[in-house]
Amino acid sequence: MLNSTATQHPWASCLGALKEKLSDDVYSQWILPLKVLDVSDFQVSLAVPNHLDLDQLAKIYLGLIEHCFQEATGREARVHLRRLPSLNMGSPSGAHAFTGMPVIDLNPNYSFDEFVVGSNSQFAYSAALAVAKDPGGTKFNPLLIYGGVGLGKTHLLQAIGNHVIAENSRKKIRYVTSEAFYREFVESIQHNRINELSNYYRNEVDILLMDDVQFLSGKDRTQEEFFHIFNSLHQSRKQIVLTSDAPPGELKGLEDRLVSRFQWGLFVDIQPPDRETREAILRKKARALNLDISDDIISYLAEAIDSNIRILEGAIRQLLLQASIKHSDITMELAKEIVNRTGVNRPMKKITPEDITSVVANYFVVEVDKIIEQGRGTKEVAQARQLAMFLMKELTSASLKTIGQRFGGRDHSTVVHAIKTIEKAMDKDDSFKKSVEAITGKLNIRS
Ligand code: ADP
Ligand code: MG
Repeated sequence: MLNSTATQHPWASCLGALKEKLSDDVYSQWILPLKVLDVSDFQVSLAVPNHLDLDQLAKIYLGLIEHCFQEATGREARVHLRRLPSLNMGSPSGAHAFTGMPVIDLNPNYSFDEFVVGSNSQFAYSAALAVAKDPGGTKFNPLLIYGGVGLGKTHLLQAIGNHVIAENSRKKIRYVTSEAFYREFVESIQHNRINELSNYYRNEVDILLMDDVQFLSGKDRTQEEFFHIFNSLHQSRKQIVLTSDAPPGELKGLEDRLVSRFQWGLFVDIQPPDRETREAILRKKARALNLDISDDIISYLAEAIDSNIRILEGAIRQLLLQASIKHSDITMELAKEIVNRTGVNRPMKKITPEDITSVVANYFVVEVDKIIEQGRGTKEVAQARQLAMFLMKELTSASLKTIGQRFGGRDHSTVVHAIKTIEKAMDKDDSFKKSVEAITGKLNIRS
């Protein structure tokens, strides 16, 4: 008896608090449909019915629910969101033959309609749409979309799948990250089920959407399996779409024969969005969440967050969360607070000569002392020293003379020589240039 009131009551008070904080629409759409499965001292489990997007719910409202729960009960509790098996929709194509997972695992929000097209993504968008309208029928097979983090690669990839589903096509879609594919492969080896895995991909998939293919780097056996699957699908005119963080020619650790297949169809990039596109994205996301944000706040956010759309989106969600916790309107002050928290506008840390020698030494696996001392040292040491000199010139205000002095009192002409050597090497050798960029990236970490 006592128990049952104890399980009902905390959630009921939490609901009261949530109702106060959220608009009626949001409350009835997102909160009311949740059902309590279990409440213990530190945990609350809520069942999420199928029509609610679990991801969205977790990202936007979970923090608020936990907050209200604590406010209402005075206890801190983790809230778990669960889909009950009985609430789960059966996937139209049944379960994954190999993993038992539903075949279709797409976020319905990742649609072409929800994607804001800018000059940065126009080409990728058009290619993806063309493929979605006629999978396997265009010359874009495979289609490879590449670009930096948070720029919409996964969104476009899944939009293809969602479009095909919306057309009521009977084509079987498989969305898989290359990391998940790798895990499936490893598991299939462990359970002696390689053939099953291979047959599944060859015979049960009409459209293969593989995300973040760069993760296969260095995983030779998985690559080999994927190579055969790729060939088989391609031969039977099944559509393959891939995403990666770099163009095919720059995918390190992938077999040449695989990379050359990636170049058979079309590869297109997505660039970071320009200012206007960022504003358009913010407006669209705000509208989707029913948020009223003034033009100057939109403009401020678009200016402050200029790299990654995921962070832009996160800022909008934070605004909603903070405003509802604080019962306040969305103000510029709140927006600034949130931008500060993302860290995007923190000043770059000032790079010191010590930072440079230590990062370079680390990279070449040599000792810092060896780089600084007078003798030439091994080939690696000499190279590391030249690079450190080059970076000091590039990234600090030290003069050539000071730099020479830092490295065992070397002459400034030695420094000039080092800089020229590195510049030439970067010109000639793309992978060396990449390494230098990677090292510079490590140094440019914000404070
Ligand atoms: P990536 O796979 O390139 O790292 P995602 O596709 O996961 O990036 O995008 C990150 C987030 O930003 C997603 O929530 C996605 O919906 C959103 N997003 C990215 N690009 C756009 C766009 N052009 N229009 C609308 N939303 C976008
Ligand atoms: Mg992605």
